[in-house]
Amino acid sequence: MFGFSDTHLQINFYFLFVNHRNLVIYVTMAYSAKKKQAGVDDMVLISKLKDEEVMENLKKRHATEVIYTYISNVLISVNPYKALPIFGPDQVQEYRGKFRHELPPHIYALAESAYKSLTSEGENQCVIISGESGAGKTEASKLIMQYVAAVSGKGEGVERVKRIILDSNPLLEAFGNAKTLRNNNSSRFGKYFEIQFDNKGDPVGGKITNYLLEKSRVIMQTQGERNFHIFYQLCAGADQSIRDEYGISQASDYHYLNQSGCYTVDNIDDASEYNDTIKAMDTIGINAHQRKEILKLVAGILWLGNISFVESGTGSEISDPRILDFASDLLGIQSQVLKDALLFRIITTGFGKTAEVFNVPQTPDQATHIRDGLAKTLYDRLFTWLVGRINDSMDSKNQDVKLLSVLDIYGFEIFDKNGFEQFCINYVNEKLQQIFIELTLKAEQEEYAQEGIQWEPIKYFNNQVVVDLIESSKPKPGIFAILDDTCATTHALESNVADNKLLTKLKESIDNDNFVGRNDDFIVKHYAGNVTYSVDGFTDKNKDQLYNTLIECMQSSTMPFVKQFFPENTREASGKKPTTAGFKIKQSSLELIAALKKCQPHYIRCMKPNESKSSKEFDVKRMLHQVKYLGLLENIRVRRAGYAYRQIYDKFLERFAILSRKTWPSPFVGESKQGCSVLLKDLNIDEKEWQMGKTKMFLRSPETLFDLEERKEKK
Ligand code: ATP
Ligand code: MG
Repeated sequence: MFGFSDTHLQINFYFLFVNHRNLVIYVTMAYSAKKKQAGVDDMVLISKLKDEEVMENLKKRHATEVIYTYISNVLISVNPYKALPIFGPDQVQEYRGKFRHELPPHIYALAESAYKSLTSEGENQCVIISGESGAGKTEASKLIMQYVAAVSGKGEGVERVKRIILDSNPLLEAFGNAKTLRNNNSSRFGKYFEIQFDNKGDPVGGKITNYLLEKSRVIMQTQGERNFHIFYQLCAGADQSIRDEYGISQASDYHYLNQSGCYTVDNIDDASEYNDTIKAMDTIGINAHQRKEILKLVAGILWLGNISFVESGTGSEISDPRILDFASDLLGIQSQVLKDALLFRIITTGFGKTAEVFNVPQTPDQATHIRDGLAKTLYDRLFTWLVGRINDSMDSKNQDVKLLSVLDIYGFEIFDKNGFEQFCINYVNEKLQQIFIELTLKAEQEEYAQEGIQWEPIKYFNNQVVVDLIESSKPKPGIFAILDDTCATTHALESNVADNKLLTKLKESIDNDNFVGRNDDFIVKHYAGNVTYSVDGFTDKNKDQLYNTLIECMQSSTMPFVKQFFPENTREASGKKPTTAGFKIKQSSLELIAALKKCQPHYIRCMKPNESKSSKEFDVKRMLHQVKYLGLLENIRVRRAGYAYRQIYDKFLERFAILSRKTWPSPFVGESKQGCSVLLKDLNIDEKEWQMGKTKMFLRSPETLFDLEERKEKK
């Protein structure tokens, strides 16, 4: 095994070459050749351009516990599923101030490069982390933040901001993460974290933008999964006074927690995490009173879920009024008001004088649906409020800041049954893939253009067709547009009828090779694979609305904390089309992409070596699939199609002058650019293999570089 001491040895070895920065790719190669099992550090240099070869390289590295590999400036990270001793203060010091290729690939090198560019060039930076659920995105995002916190300045204000930045993680994870089948700590929301730096390079503030919390998890979870961590933390960790006051007992007592048969998670101690959550609240300035209000609301949601209904006449009745009373009390509402809002739905037909109001009794199923809608909304708004509080606490109010942002957003999801949530998540991933293609290709192309280099753009799968299929509005309406249209015209219909109408419309109007309409569902051919979406619940989730009666009921709360979550005006019709969930996610991805485009991007592509969270297993088939859909080979091709190696003329000449009598021992007289040309011609290097840019020499294939290096070694 490639143990810790070997890794250390490797680092020392790299130190020898610090002065030959331009050569580190080669050095890395040479070293890797000696330590065959470690593969190549930068896959631009793999010998065969095949997906299998990429996968093999990652496999060799995984077997030797090397989790990081580059494709040029993109970092590939394979989840080790075990704590490796490579993230300590020593490593931070090692990577600090170095250039990316001076040391073996590491997330700290990427963080350093982003931080260095920010401080030295004053340009905004973003780190875009992608990969499927459980691949290690959130862990990567935390490592970036820890590194930046470790290498930036001190001082009281700065330390406070750093503490908030780091402590916001456990708080957000308590409320936004859950155990899923794929990941024991799966982020069920997307997060864009901007760290703001002053001109000294010290963090002075931050801002989090959150995306689409998976709120359906509040009311139901798949077998073997859990609700959001906070519920179990509360049950396991709350002190006696809170337990008594808010009726907290064990998780199995609550309907919202006992449907999935899963209460505990390996290696997660809910009681101790409860303490971390409370501590984090303290760090961001949530006082004891507010903390109680938050916990009371969490308890209120649990108790709301325990209200059940039985059939009564044409409508229903509450099974146990004592539960209704307790839940109402926690939410600060009179029980009769909550009861009416759950058991009846007021429907108005007609306008003006002809308007008629009906108080329609709800069946137990319908009442349950209203109850669940309320629970989801309460939780979702609480989550957004918390993010707002974190943002308030680190608002620097300083306009003159530079940003280093980290994007950690839910990965692409393919389940046995996929619904509206997966559809939105996968849409965001399509958008991110789009920006990855654009920025990696663009950056490369820009350098060629700048240097006046000629090159043939290479073919790659452009997923714009899939993005259009989902988001376009004109001339051909995409899925979101058709969904909004269906929602606007099916108010009076039961949701399953509206869902069926949606499917019919989709099938009638979409003509796109990446869409297949079927009897009960539809398939979208995403860049990462085909996903079958059931239309069940699409219209309802897209409308994302509570009945007015329910909103007014919540506005009657005597608790300002609860009341503030319902600012809607239910009295006046606004005349505007209601905002749908689809519209919101489209809008926020648009804003996100716009923000990302203003930054210099850094990419981390996380990969998951197996489904069993094992530190040993490397599932070749799964990894090959990820290699393919992450487009790693295309990424390598672009870099090579391209020129694998480039170096400014002075340095190039300095390095290889020794190879020709025309440049050595008496130095070449004249410009380095000309010297390089004389040198390569004298060495008979095929002219197709090199091009001269304005400031740099470009070598097409790595072999040419190796050839030069070998010649040099023989000298
Ligand atoms: P999701 O999309 O579900 O949120 P994710 O990509 O954010 O998934 P993480 O939560 O970061 O995945 O990682 C899943 C688990 O994998 C972690 O809880 C941890 O056990 C392990 N893991 C990830 N990265 C590392 C690492 N660098 N070192 C050790 N273990 C890791
Ligand atoms: Mg995550």
